[in-house]
Amino acid sequence: MSIAKGNPCINSKDTDENNNPLLEYENGHLIGKHPKNTEIFSLKQSGHSNLPLAQIIRKKCLDCCAFQAREVRKCVCTSCPLWPYRMGKNPFQAAKHKGKPSNLNKTGG
Ligand code: SF4
Repeated sequence: MSIAKGNPCINSKDTDENNNPLLEYENGHLIGKHPKNTEIFSLKQSGHSNLPLAQIIRKKCLDCCAFQAREVRKCVCTSCPLWPYRMGKNPFQAAKHKGKPSNLNKTGG
């Protein structure tokens, strides 16, 4: 039986593929490799890219909402750790820059 069965976070195609370079066996069980032990080439070949984390979170939120951007925008799961970042921006970072004089000048304020 695929380990993906019943787990909404696992794409069954990941674990059904033979020779997935991002997986390894441990005590006879298929597990994900530690990212530090994966090759960049393998990550890229598997569709991963070096993006800012907020943009990666956005992709995960789209996945969570069946790729319906409007549903991500309206997400009511405010306790989800990804919720503040679901629009692809870090609001904490944005708030930090709002108070800086250089940004106040840019907005004409
Ligand atoms: S914030 Fe909402 S859309 Fe994003 S992962 Fe969490 S529950 Fe899903």
